[in-house]
Amino acid sequence: MGQNAHQRLNADEALEKLLAGNKRFVSGKQLHPNQSKKSRKAVVEAQEPMAAILTCADSRVPPVVIFDQGIGDLFVVRVAGNIIDNHTLGSIEYALVHLLTPLVVVMGHSSCGAVSAVAQGAQLDGHMATFVPPIQAAIKNVEDPRDDLVDRAAREVAKMVTARINESEPIIADYVRDGRVKVVAAYYDLESGEVSIL
Ligand SMILES: [Zn+2]
Repeated sequence: MGQNAHQRLNADEALEKLLAGNKRFVSGKQLHPNQSKKSRKAVVEAQEPMAAILTCADSRVPPVVIFDQGIGDLFVVRVAGNIIDNHTLGSIEYALVHLLTPLVVVMGHSSCGAVSAVAQGAQLDGHMATFVPPIQAAIKNVEDPRDDLVDRAAREVAKMVTARINESEPIIADYVRDGRVKVVAAYYDLESGEVSIL
């Protein structure tokens, strides 16, 4: 192991690295690490991503760009509204068990279409209807829903999903208990580009 630029980090180091990359992104001073031909070849045999990121499918929320990382750095799971189901949980379990990823970040974002649709009670047809219950549950937790209900609800979704991942049986709850992984909630602001940890 360690033939590439990816060395094993613990959860705190990984989070620090992500936030440093986000700072570069916000200030326009990106390093674009691990994006060369050499980087690509270095991870053909194996990957050691520093973090698993569960975030929205929204085209404006690309984790590798937002955190100024590259090939092999992030194990990304994306679904509208960054909610969980069996497939997303299984994907996160894969990162923990097979890739020994030390950190999971659940990242909601401002102006989220999925959250906004549920908050406004819009009609969601077909499989989109499955977004409603988890997002509605989070909306109920918003304490002060005055002007920015959608963005507050997006933060609640991230926090609620994080809590559910922490408790997820089998596998993840054990990893959390043993300190093999940390699961944190985060929020991305589309306009400033900034990621805050909730
Ligand atoms: Zn979204």
